[in-house]
Parts: sequence; structure tokens; C-alpha cells
Amino acid sequence: MEIKMVDLQTQYLHIKKEIDEAIAKVIDSTAFINGPVVKEFQENLANYVGCKHVITCGNGTDALQISLMALGLQPGDEVITTPFTFIATAEVAGLLGFKPVFVDVHPDTFNIDASKIEAAITPRTKAIVPVHLFGQCADMSEILRIARKHALPVVEDACQAIGATIDGKMAGTMGDIGCTSFFPSKNLGCYGDGGAIFTNDDALATRLRGIANHGSFVKYHHDMIGVNSRLDSIQAAILNVKLRHLDEFTAARQKAAETYNRLLADCDWVSTPAVAPFTTHVYHQYTLRLREDIDRARVIEKLKALGIPAMIYYPVPLHLQKAFVSSGFREGDFPVAEKLSRTVLSLPMHTELDEKQQEFIVESLKSTSKSC
Ligand SMILES: *Cc1c(COP(=O)(O)O)cnc(C)c1O
Repeated sequence: MEIKMVDLQTQYLHIKKEIDEAIAKVIDSTAFINGPVVKEFQENLANYVGCKHVITCGNGTDALQISLMALGLQPGDEVITTPFTFIATAEVAGLLGFKPVFVDVHPDTFNIDASKIEAAITPRTKAIVPVHLFGQCADMSEILRIARKHALPVVEDACQAIGATIDGKMAGTMGDIGCTSFFPSKNLGCYGDGGAIFTNDDALATRLRGIANHGSFVKYHHDMIGVNSRLDSIQAAILNVKLRHLDEFTAARQKAAETYNRLLADCDWVSTPAVAPFTTHVYHQYTLRLREDIDRARVIEKLKALGIPAMIYYPVPLHLQKAFVSSGFREGDFPVAEKLSRTVLSLPMHTELDEKQQEFIVESLKSTSKSC
């Protein structure tokens, strides 16, 4: 039995006809950049997530960078975010000369602990960037309440959470701006790089579009230094097909998570993912916490020997990354994120997992440690 962390090949075989036709159509048209299919996808995605404007771009990192560029921050301004995420979230702030200010995460949901945000706000704080990590939303009602009180814009990093909702509102559409990624392994993945920005604000939408297009609002007139960040037409065509299947894909992930939860219920040395009561979970990752005395490296090694991949997302919290060493963070600054980095383990999660595979994965996992 071959087990993959993410099985894009089997997924492709299920939708091959639709995908191949969509790609062939773009090649026939030769409208490879900014073709009509890109506009069509932007409209389809805006309808799906329920927001006014979708601006597609080159990848999720660009989406975050363009969003921060649109807010008019000055060098040295502070951006509040989480230390337990993929580097891109804080990297773009650093790249633009802003200062990432980390707020520790909640030990159960892995998302930014909203109750700790206000203590991190200073006169230089200019934005809050929550991440909807692994597929469940951060506590947006509390984050938005704090943001409004302090007149701060909120940029949601929804790269892992497309389709997750709070009270029917989709991840990425609750703050001022939302960002997502179409990296192939993401919940809505294309066959290369891609990203998108969501906003309901007309003026921000114009600004975001201009920044993504060389700072140009009128062709060959450049009002500001922007970037060149585009979703190409072939990727948009693929995404149009995959968007039609996104609800099925999400349901498959949720079913797989339920199966894991059931199979792992009697295992006393792992904690299965906790879902906050205010959000749905779209399981970009299925991430366990191992009891602290468990030798995680050995568990991974033994699983690997049985042909089962498992990953650590993320082994080093951002404040302890060498890239941020000049910011003067120290071990102990964000103890929850640090503990999670030592104890989390993500199991294979994708749209094509079947119960037999999951039974084998869980039996193998249990066999790596005798205590359950
Ligand atoms: C994937 C991801 C990104 C970056 O997306 P790319 O398309 O790879 O640039 C940013 N933030 C988070 C939380 C991600 O998971």
C-alpha cells in the first residue's frame, strides 16, 4: 500500500478529462497571460467565497506582500502576527522593512491567542495578520473587535483555510484583506504557483490590482513602485475546474479527519486536533500533538520504515528562525509555539485517503510506541 502525504496524482486521474480540456482550450487560444479565463476565475472565486473583489496574483506570498504594500505602512511600523506559521506570513513584513511582532498561539487550536493581542499593540502597530492555520479560522470576532477599537487593518492569511467559515463567512473575507495560495498541495491547488487577494473595499481593490501590476493604474503610467505578480491563464483554467470540486474535496478531508479521530480515540499519547467552537475546519493538515515524553524523531523514523510519511509543521517557530535573529527574540518568548514545535506531528491528509490506508497509518503509528 503506497501512502503519500498528499496524493495529487490520484486526484488528477479523477478530474483528468475536465482538466485536460481546460488546459487545451487555453493553449488553443494562446491567451496565456491575463486571458478571459483569469477574469472568469476571479468572478467564480468571488462568488464562492462571497466577497466583492478577487485579485489573483503569482502566489500566496505575493498576495501577503501586495496586501501589506497596499496599507501604506512606513518602515519600522509593526505588524502583529503569529510565530507558529509558515515563514511567508512574517517574511513579507520583514522584506518591506516592517517589524513583525509575534503574539503566542492557543495550545489547542494553534492559532494566534486573541486574548494576548492587545498587550502587543503599541503606537507603531499598523496591522494585524492572523493566520487560519491548518484549516480552521482564528478567533476573528475577537480579532476584529480589537482591530476596530485600535483602528487597525486586518489582513487574513487564509492560505491554508479556503472554504473554512465562521457563522457562514468564509476565511479571508472577514478582515479588510484576505490572502490565499494555490500552491499545488493547498486545499484549492493549481498545477504550479498561484495566489489571490480578497477584499470588499473598492478603493483597496483598485490599489491592490495596481500594485500587482507594476504600480500601474493606467497602462504605461506608473504611480508607485509595484511588483509583477500574475496568475497565468493555464493555472486559472485548472482552478476553475478544481473550484467546482472544492466542496467535495473539503468534505473528503473532513471525513478523513473524522476517521483519524475515531481510530485514534483510544491512543493516550496523542491529542487529535481540537476545533474551536466558532469555526469549521477544512483540514489542510491533520496535526496531532504528541505527549511530551514521546520521542517524536523515533516515531517518524519508524513510520518511515513502514512506508508512511509524516511531517512536522513547523519545527522552528518564527521568532527562533535565523532570519529573525537580528530582531532579538529569545527562547522562552513564546512558550506555547515553542512547545508545539517540539510536539506536533502531521499525518497524511488529502482528498484521496481511504479507510484502509488510514487504518494502516494509525495501526503503524500506534505500533511505534507501546503505551496505547
Ligand atoms: C502556503 C502558505 C503561504 C505562501 O503561499 P505560496 O503560494 O507558497 O507563496 C503563506 N502562508 C501560509 C500560512 C501558507 O501555508
